[in-house]
Amino acid sequence: MIERTLIIAKPDAVQRGLVGDIIKRFEKVGLKISGIKMITPTNKQVGKHYPYDKKWLNSVGKKTRAGFAEKGIEMDETDLQIGSRIRNWLMEYMASGPVVAMVFEGVHACEVGRKIVGSTEPRTSSPGTIRGDYAIESYRFADSKERPVKNLVHAAETPKDAEKELKIWFSKKDLMNYNAQRWEIHH
Ligand code: ADP
Repeated sequence: MIERTLIIAKPDAVQRGLVGDIIKRFEKVGLKISGIKMITPTNKQVGKHYPYDKKWLNSVGKKTRAGFAEKGIEMDETDLQIGSRIRNWLMEYMASGPVVAMVFEGVHACEVGRKIVGSTEPRTSSPGTIRGDYAIESYRFADSKERPVKNLVHAAETPKDAEKELKIWFSKKDLMNYNAQRWEIHH
């Protein structure tokens, strides 16, 4: 049950000076920070982080289609085409400037991490979440600009994804092992 999650403050979060506020939200809930690094990602790192995985691309497409349908707009592309297009944008965007990659540990770290971050499209992310509180735009707006939706943060979806993803950003020696006092609440 004690898991690790990978969180990335994306280029928009760094540019807007929101990194401190973002870190605070994860610490506040009782997650323990065990790694942090500021880097401008290479295209290769971004390509590994957002791999050409049909299942994920289809799910990105499906979510996007639902977001457009809510506004009464039908999309011609297949889910896979939508997902591939967005992946291309992500490859460019994520490598466009510095990001802050972080590892947090704790009970249900992935599930709770995703809850703190909120749903993908800021237009509908709930208030109280990072995306709901600090971001605003819609898929439609981002699509009109031909870039990913600026939603500030990436959060790993499952512990399995997190373990795979954190290897892209951190080596073993980058991750700290220490006792955090507030962690006692979990024991
Ligand atoms: P999440 O980051 O919430 O796990 P996904 O894995 O579905 O979301 O998508 C990865 C990222 O791709 C999103 O965080 C967002 O930046 C971008 N994205 C997803 N769908 C769209 C879209 N329709 N238009 C623009 N960008 C999108």
